[in-house]
Amino acid sequence: MKRKGILFVLSGPSGAGKGTVLGRVIKEVGGLALSVSVTTRAPRVGEIDGIHYHFKTEDEFMSMVNNDEFLEYVAKFKNKYGTPKAQVREHLENGTDVILEIETKGAANIRRSFPEAVLVFITPSSYEELSRRLSQRGTEDEKVRALRLKIARTEYKSLRKYDYLAINDDLDECVKTVSAIITSERAKRKNNLELAEKLINIE
Ligand code: 5GP
Repeated sequence: MKRKGILFVLSGPSGAGKGTVLGRVIKEVGGLALSVSVTTRAPRVGEIDGIHYHFKTEDEFMSMVNNDEFLEYVAKFKNKYGTPKAQVREHLENGTDVILEIETKGAANIRRSFPEAVLVFITPSSYEELSRRLSQRGTEDEKVRALRLKIARTEYKSLRKYDYLAINDDLDECVKTVSAIITSERAKRKNNLELAEKLINIE
């Protein structure tokens, strides 16, 4: 039986440092395909179409919805975000592990369609620290920051659905934690059935 890829889902409130952690983990762990989401939101400075997101109009997004091209999608902050199905399926079928960085509702939907997915929640160790980081970031005005904090509180309510909690107070430590999670999942026997059976059957 050919090994299927493992689907890793990374979530965490805005300001938790998911993007930075993810970038480092992908470099350090290797063999992970990052799913590039589709969004209707405008690109931020430095964001590149096809790398950070596939930036689409509302009409283009809705036509993808109608064509059943998303594994999951949500509306958030007046924008829509979705995980394209084809690419993720193809990688998993080929045995490549895939990592998605999505918010909690999307993660819950992934859990329903892929019960085996490994859900990791990244957060600073306190709400106060999260609030402080959002103030420092300075990319959003005060109203948006307050909204992001409110959403963070609702995202914390979904924590029970997650398999792992990765604390991001120290970037290096958090990268180590997430990398260790990936390495451990890869080492599980159920993810190495072919080899395990071969070894069992040696006479
Ligand atoms: P941002 O606009 O800051 O890039 O992302 C806002 C939120 O949308 C983040 O929590 C991010 O994880 C989430 N997000 C990005 N892409 C997707 C996606 O394809 N599906 C879902 N459900 N959430 C996404």
